[in-house]
Amino acid sequence: MKTNWNFDNSYARLPERFFMKIYPTPVRNPKMAVLNRSLAGELGLCTEALASEDGVAVFAGNRIPEGAEPLAQAYAGHQFRYFNMLGDGRAILLGEHVTPDGERFDIQLKGSGRTPYSRGGDGRAALGPMLREYIISEAMHALRIPTTRSLAVVTTGEVVIRETELPGAILTRVAASHLRVGTFQYAARFLSKDELQALADYAMKRHDLNGEQASNRYLFLLEEVMKKQAALVAKWQLVGFIHGVMNTDNMTISGETIDYGPCAFMDVYDPKTVFSSIDTQGRYAYGNQPYIAGWNIARLAESLLPLLHDNEEKAIELAQETIGRFPALYETYWLEGMRTKLGLFTKEEEDKKLIGELLHLMYTYRADYTNTFRSLTLGEWNFCEQQFRDWYARWQERIARQGVTKDEVYERMRQNNPAIIPRNYRVEEALTAAVEHGDYTVMEQLLHALQHPYAYTKEQEQYAIPPEPSDRPYRTFCGT
Ligand code: AMP
Ligand code: MG
Repeated sequence: MKTNWNFDNSYARLPERFFMKIYPTPVRNPKMAVLNRSLAGELGLCTEALASEDGVAVFAGNRIPEGAEPLAQAYAGHQFRYFNMLGDGRAILLGEHVTPDGERFDIQLKGSGRTPYSRGGDGRAALGPMLREYIISEAMHALRIPTTRSLAVVTTGEVVIRETELPGAILTRVAASHLRVGTFQYAARFLSKDELQALADYAMKRHDLNGEQASNRYLFLLEEVMKKQAALVAKWQLVGFIHGVMNTDNMTISGETIDYGPCAFMDVYDPKTVFSSIDTQGRYAYGNQPYIAGWNIARLAESLLPLLHDNEEKAIELAQETIGRFPALYETYWLEGMRTKLGLFTKEEEDKKLIGELLHLMYTYRADYTNTFRSLTLGEWNFCEQQFRDWYARWQERIARQGVTKDEVYERMRQNNPAIIPRNYRVEEALTAAVEHGDYTVMEQLLHALQHPYAYTKEQEQYAIPPEPSDRPYRTFCGT
């Protein structure tokens, strides 16, 4: 039985200081916990072979498939505002799998043992957090939000020591690439200009950023990454996703969401919502995410300065002019998205105000973010407060002015307001069943429901129920 792995490792051809060649540390007794059959299909891989003993051995790091050249990537990053040298401390890139259609994806094992970048860490991951990444990343993908994906989770048969002993696991992550803002920060801080340039050229080639027409190739790179990140974070805001650790090492050049640690979806609308137990200052709160994305892009711009212009002052000027456009760019994407959520086809000056008023009402009355849009979409609006009614009347007038049918309006809303999101208490319920009782059925049902978030099926209704007030406030812990 052939798996059809087809590795070609372009990253390993970068200058040698961008990585360390190292193998995963074998584990005692690997077992498949969950395999993503539909993703396997998209990658042109054979699911039966992946699920076989040999297949599981690959996911566990016990067997290296032909053509793979395992390595740990070097990168740095600002973590909660402080610059650190980081690198893959518990992940190993097997290489890039090239699909039958010629698409190239990083295949990375997360939780695969210590590397030279591990610092004090054990290089391992616990089952709960790896299943959590699997669920949330697949839910994000189904929500049409760019993200790394999860091909499989295997248990290792070993324990990891966190606050308590937990079952160990390894996640196989699939990504357009693992190039991060932090990879550029690493090159800018520790390597030569030639090496930085090699990285920039590589990133452009890897992500089809054809800078040939651009008057300044590396400014073009900065602009493109900025656009992708503005679009990405707008999408997060529109569905109420809170990343939790928007450190610069967790921001990709590809524009994919990466590193699902203490992330979660917001229930009640409140811009100050924070889930991560270590984010005591609220740096990465929901309402702060667009600002942080801009801050991170500024770190990318700084790293690219030597390539933007030989004259440093001129380079700074170019960088500032570019990143200065981030807030407006973000707002354009966000406003576009909000219009679709409210069934708007046309643009009016007052739209921003109309949207702002709705959000303010949600905040004042502690309304559930997803379900407010869900009820508007379903025409099941049942807020009794007069202010909500006034707003509703104004929105109805606004819709009526567009010259499209009600059906078209509601269809647009259904396409853009998820019926369900992975609510925290539902995710926890699935993880408890799997991790503590070895029962994966709860998770499978949840994953199934999340696969078509815009379908509005009967089966999904139970997942739309918001948590009991006692389940709040929710906290995710960083001991991932
Ligand atoms: P993260 O918070 O997952 O983005 O990780 C930040 C940095 O810490 C990265 O360099 C990781 O590789 C490293 N790291 C996280 N957990 C561990 C661990 N258990 N062992 C070694 N390194 C780790
Ligand atoms: Mg990270």
